[in-house]
Amino acid sequence: RAGKSLFEAQRVGRGKIVTHGGYYASPAAVRDGLRNGEFFLHFQPVVDLVTGAAIGAEALVRWQHPTRGLVPPAEFIPLCEASGSMEVLGHWVIRESIARAADWRRLRRWDREPVSVSINASARELASTGYGAYVLAECADTGLPPGLVRIEVTETDLGTDTAAVRANIRILRGAGVLISMDDFGTGHSSLSRLTEIDLDVLKIDQSFVAVIESGRDSPVADLTIKLAATLGLQVIAEGVETEEQAEWLRQRGCSFAQGYLYSRPVPSDEFVERFLVHRSA
Ligand code: C2E
Ligand code: CA
Ligand code: CA
Ligand code: CA
Repeated sequence: RAGKSLFEAQRVGRGKIVTHGGYYASPAAVRDGLRNGEFFLHFQPVVDLVTGAAIGAEALVRWQHPTRGLVPPAEFIPLCEASGSMEVLGHWVIRESIARAADWRRLRRWDREPVSVSINASARELASTGYGAYVLAECADTGLPPGLVRIEVTETDLGTDTAAVRANIRILRGAGVLISMDDFGTGHSSLSRLTEIDLDVLKIDQSFVAVIESGRDSPVADLTIKLAATLGLQVIAEGVETEEQAEWLRQRGCSFAQGYLYSRPVPSDEFVERFLVHRSA
């Protein structure tokens, strides 16, 4: 089990070389990287499938490493989790994401709905005491209404359903932050578990969107859209790359989407330029 090995890795000692090849993500290295401006965020718009207007954007972290080049998050996030540097990186991601979302709120046309920011929470972050309070403190500092923040969690993260996880979700939702279930359908939680967690949004994993092609259906995407409607949750399809996929989703009542069809993840300035200022919608 990955969870067990991470736990064992953690016990070896914070900041030590804990994962094969993972020394570059030690807490000291991540702190240096943050100081040197090696980390940056890209934002991927979440669009209304009918109007094409952005309702928000998801923050996705990148690391421009001095010797390794551009390292993808799928590679360094698990290393940060294992080596004990996730908290410092996660705090930076939260601070930076909320600051940008506060900018977007100022720059948004006065007659348009404000846009939200979605922040990915890793298992360890979600289970750490004070996570929810940290998010809310950044909102207070920047004046961003917590209702414009969404926290993305996965079924796997929620598998470690400790008191701390529940407390964080309660604190966040109590202040108006929305909780999104990321990669829905790829984990192993039961449907009954789903109704026990306080959720606001289901995100259809991109693997269930990718199968929609040349007239082929996606039973899992179909079911997720219906399930969301039954539970009163918002539903967002991820990884939408073709007009055919978008049309299939629209016809089945999916309201929102993310994917290369609309935009790759881009710097905040580009998101503002293309989606908040120049679009009429
Ligand atoms: P995710 O949260 O499921 O993010 C979606 C991933 O799909 C992103 O990859 C995004 O660039 C990619 N994507 C978006 N649209 C399309 C599309 O149309 N087609 C395809 N093929 N891919 C698309 P990315 O940015 O490499 O992130 C990978 C994963 O790393 C994320 O998956 C998330 O689990 C994690 N991650 C990224 N940023 C953070 C962060 O700040 N904190 C934490 N804890 N995890 C993060
Ligand atoms: Ca996500
Ligand atoms: Ca996802
Ligand atoms: Ca994912």
